[in-house]
Amino acid sequence: MTTLRPLPRSLDPLPDESIIGYVLRLGHRLGLAPDRVADITGLISGHSRDRMALAKMLTTIDHASMAAFTTATRLTAHEARQLFLEPLMVRYPPAVWATWTKYRAHTQFGSWVFTRSTRYCPQCLTGNDTAIQRDHGGAWRRSWRLPIVFACTTHKRLLEHACPRCATPAHHRSQAYLQRWSSAELHPAQCRATSHRTARPCGAWLTDPRRSSSPLAPHLRRLQDKLVALLNGKPPGIPTSPGETQREPSIYFLDLAMTTYLIRATWPVSGQLLRNTEEIAIVDDVLGPADGRLQSNYPGRTNPAPRRAMSKLHRLHCTPPLETLPCALLLSAADELLQHDSTEQLVARFRPIAAVAEDKLDVVTGHARFLCSPRLVDAIAEIRNLPTRRSATPSAISSLGTGHSARE
Ligand SMILES: [Zn+2]
Ligand SMILES: [Zn+2]
Repeated sequence: MTTLRPLPRSLDPLPDESIIGYVLRLGHRLGLAPDRVADITGLISGHSRDRMALAKMLTTIDHASMAAFTTATRLTAHEARQLFLEPLMVRYPPAVWATWTKYRAHTQFGSWVFTRSTRYCPQCLTGNDTAIQRDHGGAWRRSWRLPIVFACTTHKRLLEHACPRCATPAHHRSQAYLQRWSSAELHPAQCRATSHRTARPCGAWLTDPRRSSSPLAPHLRRLQDKLVALLNGKPPGIPTSPGETQREPSIYFLDLAMTTYLIRATWPVSGQLLRNTEEIAIVDDVLGPADGRLQSNYPGRTNPAPRRAMSKLHRLHCTPPLETLPCALLLSAADELLQHDSTEQLVARFRPIAAVAEDKLDVVTGHARFLCSPRLVDAIAEIRNLPTRRSATPSAISSLGTGHSARE
């Protein structure tokens, strides 16, 4: 490929900044549209312009594109690499699986990255008092793309997920790239959605300081601190996977995703795992309508649903809510469930779920048995009267850190 020239002016990345946020800020600084920035920095040359183009760009770029990008932006290879999700994969495997067709199709974990929109903290987007952030705003963080990040640990608040004016999810895309990807008229912190009334960009400021946020409950703040510490590779010092305190973060996160799926797929019976009726109502407000929309395609057990409708329902259940509070409450219930020390305790906690939809558990003892913790797999196997894997080899997760496929 052609070697690109260094840009006349570049920009230092901010901590945890995503490549999309960096392109938006750099474009705003240079007076260029995001697509032009992606072009002159070599970013899009490594990807096709298909519907997953932005998801792939969020994840990683090939070596030649990376070389062009670092030349154009004058970033070091390390600085450039940290703009992508791939470095998180070693501790959070779904960071890459979201674009890995094989895993998206065959596991529960492909949806554990938001590739169609993002969450955000209005105060972080406002930026600090430095001239560069006053002009171009703060970072659109890459961790906001992960369902496990539902609160800002700096500003002690829940993240937002949609525009306060038009209610479109932030950075929503229905095509390959963000809306207004070819337009230089918007600030990085403005809503890019198109107004149905005027066909113009909404343009609302996502940094609006007048917006209030629901208080972050102490148990959710503790959970978020733990999840962020694990994501950043800090020693947890706190229980993660069942009965153990020092499990690999990657296994814990997959256990957490799997357990959240089981709670989601057996809602509303699994509501009993939440702390109180208020929490149940908050989750039900999101899950109820989502399930309801598929009801017409899902006639029930006595009238077997078409295969396509079942598959849609399964995908819905595998996808954590974008809305932060319901998602946080589901994760909290899953985390508390996983804290039970013994297989026997786990079995007892999972029984109510098994009683309503035992078949939902089979995914744990199927292909995911090589990814989740042995204790979780054993507990589910015991409920299903299957052989446990106590004598089996350790999780295959370590072989996945290098991008190799798991044994199936
Ligand atoms: Zn913040
Ligand atoms: Zn808007």
